[in-house]
Amino acid sequence: MLKRFHLNIDPVGLSFSCLTYVFLLYAYYVLIGVVIIPLMNESIYGCLNGVLLTILIFLCIISHLKASLSNPGYVSILNNKYNDKPQISQEGYTTCSKCEIYRTADSHHCGICRKCIKKRHHHCPWINNCIGELNQKYFIQFNFYTSILCIYGIIFLMTSLIIYPDEIQTSNRISPSARVYHSVFVIVECIVFGLFVFAIMCEQITSITSSCVGQKSNHSETRKSCFDNLGENLKLKYFQFCQVFGQKNPILWLFPFDFRSNSNFKFQGNNFFSV
Ligand SMILES: [Zn+2]
Ligand SMILES: [Zn+2]
Repeated sequence: MLKRFHLNIDPVGLSFSCLTYVFLLYAYYVLIGVVIIPLMNESIYGCLNGVLLTILIFLCIISHLKASLSNPGYVSILNNKYNDKPQISQEGYTTCSKCEIYRTADSHHCGICRKCIKKRHHHCPWINNCIGELNQKYFIQFNFYTSILCIYGIIFLMTSLIIYPDEIQTSNRISPSARVYHSVFVIVECIVFGLFVFAIMCEQITSITSSCVGQKSNHSETRKSCFDNLGENLKLKYFQFCQVFGQKNPILWLFPFDFRSNSNFKFQGNNFFSV
């Protein structure tokens, strides 16, 4: 049985991963500790923003932890070692000379993880893990929540700088000029980091929707009847997103939790449409 959680001992990946938490926690410190508590601790506006930002940071950190510590979809070496008689048909399978195993055609080897991973997309140093079949949804969620946090942070800090200019003294601990420097630094951080994660999120979504094209051509005969008069392309995209996120309900796609083990959701053939 494969382990559900693991940690890659890769110095580069661990450093980038820690840097992500430094960025997130510094932004949280400035938003809450430098702006909201000194300036707005008695207003509903401040409390509401504080709660929303805390929820967003929580979702960013949970989705990052899940993406980095989850099994991305390691191909099991049980039952399909070269030397053993494979329990599966070799038809449609490829071999990995490094792992010495049979694997599905959509699996690829990662030199950093030193394993073959099903539906491997790439190895991301920011999460210190490969992006594969089982953790892609957490990776997309991390990019999604971080994009929202960055947009939120930019708007909130710029608004605060306009409402509370640098001559207003609001705290003995933090001078007005220090508050402005911190705010400007986080705005720049949010612009750079936000553009980066937003671009990656778009790339991930594009990869999911473009894989529908291949699926459509490979299985067009068997699925043709299912898609007649139902907006074929839209259904295919929805189907692919359901596979990645493990649920049919798009609301549940937002939660960084594993629904697969508890779900009796079938993705095979007509079952998908008959349930
Ligand atoms: Zn391999
Ligand atoms: Zn990897």
